[in-house]
Amino acid sequence: MTVLGCIADDFTGATDLAGLLARSGVRVNLHMGVPDAPPTDTAAFEVIALKCRTEPVAEAVAECLRALEWLQAAGAARFFWKYCSTFDSTAQGNIGPVAEALMARLGADQTIYCPAFPENGRSIFMGNLFVGEQPLGESPMKDHPLTPMRDSNLMRLLEPQVTRPVGLANRLVVEKGADALRARLAELKQNGVAHVVVDAVSNDDLQVISEACRDMTFLTGGSAVAMALPELYLKDGTLDADAPKMATPKLPEAAIVLSGSCSAMTRAQVSDYLRQADGYRLDPLELAQEGVGAALAWLEKQPLESAKIIYATAEPSNVKAAQDKLGIAKAGALVEDALATLAVKARELGTRRFVVAGGETSGAVTKALGVTRLTIGAEIAPGVPWCFAQSAGEEIAVTLKSGNFGAESFFSDALTKL
Ligand code: ADP
Repeated sequence: MTVLGCIADDFTGATDLAGLLARSGVRVNLHMGVPDAPPTDTAAFEVIALKCRTEPVAEAVAECLRALEWLQAAGAARFFWKYCSTFDSTAQGNIGPVAEALMARLGADQTIYCPAFPENGRSIFMGNLFVGEQPLGESPMKDHPLTPMRDSNLMRLLEPQVTRPVGLANRLVVEKGADALRARLAELKQNGVAHVVVDAVSNDDLQVISEACRDMTFLTGGSAVAMALPELYLKDGTLDADAPKMATPKLPEAAIVLSGSCSAMTRAQVSDYLRQADGYRLDPLELAQEGVGAALAWLEKQPLESAKIIYATAEPSNVKAAQDKLGIAKAGALVEDALATLAVKARELGTRRFVVAGGETSGAVTKALGVTRLTIGAEIAPGVPWCFAQSAGEEIAVTLKSGNFGAESFFSDALTKL
């Protein structure tokens, strides 16, 4: 029986949440999109990954409500709405509108907002979100192409997105413990505050928040605030001690790294990995003229057991040059389509372990591999687990890493971990 049903607004965010829940050792299922079929063989934690972060509000709300219905059919009575730890959204939404729609459907009159992820440098103090030591609005997130974050104050960011009042439970309350936080939430509720931003700067704070809020029907946040819930549910009997555990299937070792992320951390990870592995660089301009044939030919020539890398990862000036020539969307699509085609070819050649870097890239690759449901395995870096799935009748392992996650040695860390 499902204990917690989770809805995430993008794919790598969903694997991040699923990975942190799986730290408990309990089985976690992850679905790419709302499954067509009714729930079967459910886990204690079911996560549905959507791609609704920047969709028009009405579409995002409708999709999240469909996900909620599926999770209710799976037996869940508690729900979690997961968004980015940098609160990626616009003044129109979708974090607030989705939360209000889910609250209305569930009859919940209050929820919390806690995108903090201290292990990855995201913390909240006095309602202001920090990325490392920088306020969100001064961090590189201020220049994000789709959701530029120019304000660091979560109450101010949330207010235009919701209809009901927004309030704060600050660090001085959280520091006093779960009872003090519960009392503060009750006080705010009496004053009609439906949306409460909660400060957290450490995992201890998150533990307090989970303890205080574990009985709320509906919680929202980044992934980390949900991390302590499995242990709490095990302790209070909400979750059976003999609930199905995480399993790690034995898979052939043939592996490939596919990278379509151009973020600073991924660029460092690709350079690091190229010191020990053979690589092939995809160039969008070449792809536009000559297609993916040369890359496919290169892949076919590689020994199956070598853990090669194929990457489009490039410096900002190269990315800009390609985008200026082809347009942003076309350059992105050429790379995503190429990596998707190469992933399928690699599987046909016998590859069973796939390391994928980039959020959009992960969506394209999993779609091409026909992966719709994954079970979560061991964590490689905070928020990045190995996942297991079926692809064309074969058992495969995939890990989906969003741009900025993982250490420089992430690609070799991933392969060693399995
Ligand atoms: P991240 O998680 O770092 O944001 P994504 O995969 O979500 O990574 O986004 C990166 C986007 O950039 C993808 O659409 C990808 O196809 C595109 N891209 C990758 N390499 C290049 C390149 N060399 N030139 C232009 N666009 C690129």
